[in-house]
Amino acid sequence: ASPACTELEVVMLDWLGQMLGLPDEFLARSGGEAGGVIQGTASEATLVALLGAKARVMQWVKEQHPEWSDTDILSKLVGYCNKQAHSSVERAGLLGGVQLRSLKPDNKRRLRGETLREAIEEDIRKGLIPFYVVATLGTTSSCAFDDLDEIGDVCKSHENVWLHVDAAYAGSAFICPEYRYLMKGIEKADSFNFNPHKWMLVNFDCSALWLKQPRWIVDAFNVDPLYLKHDQQGSAPDYRHWQIPLGRRFRALKLWFVLRLHGVEYLQEYIRKHIALAHLYEKLCTSDDRFELYEEVTMGLVCFRLKGSNNLNKELLRRINGRGKIHLVPSEIDDIYFLRLAICSRYTEES
Ligand code: PLP
Repeated sequence: ASPACTELEVVMLDWLGQMLGLPDEFLARSGGEAGGVIQGTASEATLVALLGAKARVMQWVKEQHPEWSDTDILSKLVGYCNKQAHSSVERAGLLGGVQLRSLKPDNKRRLRGETLREAIEEDIRKGLIPFYVVATLGTTSSCAFDDLDEIGDVCKSHENVWLHVDAAYAGSAFICPEYRYLMKGIEKADSFNFNPHKWMLVNFDCSALWLKQPRWIVDAFNVDPLYLKHDQQGSAPDYRHWQIPLGRRFRALKLWFVLRLHGVEYLQEYIRKHIALAHLYEKLCTSDDRFELYEEVTMGLVCFRLKGSNNLNKELLRRINGRGKIHLVPSEIDDIYFLRLAICSRYTEES
């Protein structure tokens, strides 16, 4: 009921999409149905994309097998993600009522195309229907990047496998062209999501989601009672159909303020400064014999540990956090416990 809110959101998501170098097929300016929408969180974006994928595959399977019931089809649907994907991906599967398989990453914690291909082929042999893949660009634990290009090829070689990209944290860095190599293959995705509220100076909540074919989500959620009908139906995106709630806040306005206040170059410098600070911290760790890095530093996250036992590192964390000056959140992969220094405050300086 507020066309100005909708219009600004359409324009802001096009600005933001161009800032990231997203292909035009994701943007409203391409003139088709594609475009972006602001969700509250990355978890919602993953669920919404899963529901779109589910609607698309259901229609396709029903055309092939009109004799199958919805329940028959639903029990065969299967999705995939890296074992290192965020827990919200598993939750999306639970909420969407479908199976999601966590696949083993390579030794750099990236999901690779070959692993996905084998899993999909194995499931097809079992009579299952692969329909959804989440590629993570910047995993929560250690900021690893799935091989989107390889994964995209595998998805494209099967019919109706929807590829969603979860770049919740690292997506902000793609406003700097030098980091876009990490999203190579993005044109093969169906949906892309990142949280400007994580690392782009936008206040919580603001999670940007782009869809090439929003019609599957609109169709999945569309119930149109008389009290929600209006004269302008079809003339602009009706964002209530692109999300789970009906009501929505005017979140595009704060995005407008951030982009107009700072401008693209300032935001690029902001990201570059954080990554440089992370590399400085990396150097401090590697030049001190007591410490080791757990993961290659690509963004503003440094995963490090004291050489020695997990318990020693737990004690170090307890002391650091106990002082109340800085706060670190740990993680553990394959039984190795490590600390994570995340540069993410606008006030962080070298000192
Ligand atoms: N995906 C990734 C890669 C994340 O790092 C996170 C949060 O840390 C999420 C999803 C969940 O984000 P949200 O709180 O926006 O649902």
